[in-house]
Amino acid sequence: METTDCSLAISEPRSATKAELSRVHSSDYIADVLDRHVTGQWAGARPDLSELAALFAGGTLVALDFLLAGKAKTAIHFPGAKHHAQYDYSSGFCVFADFALAADIASKDFSKKVAILDFDAHHGDGTENLTAENPNVLTFSIHEKGIFPGTGNTSVPEKNVYNYPLGDQGSEGEIGKGDEALLRGVARFCELAKDFNAEFLFIAAGADGHTDDPLSSLQFTVAGYTAAARYLRENFPETPILIGGAGGYLPDSSTPEVWATFCQEISELSRQAVAIQEIAEKDECMEKSEETESIAVDKEPLK
Ligand SMILES: [Zn+2]
Repeated sequence: METTDCSLAISEPRSATKAELSRVHSSDYIADVLDRHVTGQWAGARPDLSELAALFAGGTLVALDFLLAGKAKTAIHFPGAKHHAQYDYSSGFCVFADFALAADIASKDFSKKVAILDFDAHHGDGTENLTAENPNVLTFSIHEKGIFPGTGNTSVPEKNVYNYPLGDQGSEGEIGKGDEALLRGVARFCELAKDFNAEFLFIAAGADGHTDDPLSSLQFTVAGYTAAARYLRENFPETPILIGGAGGYLPDSSTPEVWATFCQEISELSRQAVAIQEIAEKDECMEKSEETESIAVDKEPLK
């Protein structure tokens, strides 16, 4: 799904090819998944998972293509940002490392500097490991300290690898697990990304840091995610942004709410909607005809 200046377009994903996947994964591992339909995480052969894994990676590449072609400023792929997948094994429900693959393409084939923000509740270890040696990719992971995968407690500035682990306020100088901690992390990321002269931002927008989500004890709220989105777009008003959904485990409540509000805010659709509403209200005050009002409604960007 991609947004253009004042509209929203939806595209079909495609499967990533073996050649594309080989940029960040071993050929044996790719063959295990795509030909033998096995990964270490699920018992037996699972052709359905193989197909999905290739589509999840390819969908992120479709979104990246829109940004590289200048057709959109914000591109969203909710099944994207499988941030635990490693070079030759799957981990944490993640089979192929789509963000590392997209960053490899953007940085090496298009000479773009990519800064990756990951605020999923879990450390983005796979993305970090697979991009750490690339000087044109910066990673910054905000996550809960001590939960799966247990890494991400140190930063490696010389490799553009940054971590921002969150713990209980007061313990070892931690700043807490709520919205304030999230926003401080996002502000630090913006500073680093500017110093890095980032030309593309990738955001692993995990919703599992929401206060209701059972997979972490972080206490982020929808208001916090919304403020983070606004801050990011205000700091990078013209920078192409690729968003992947990463984790989220309340599919009937907070997960879609977090994703929808974050993406709406960062793509500026909400501000456009407000502007159009203001136009409609102004027209109403001027006692314009009903025809004018319907034109304003026709411009509503979410249609
Ligand atoms: Zn997660």
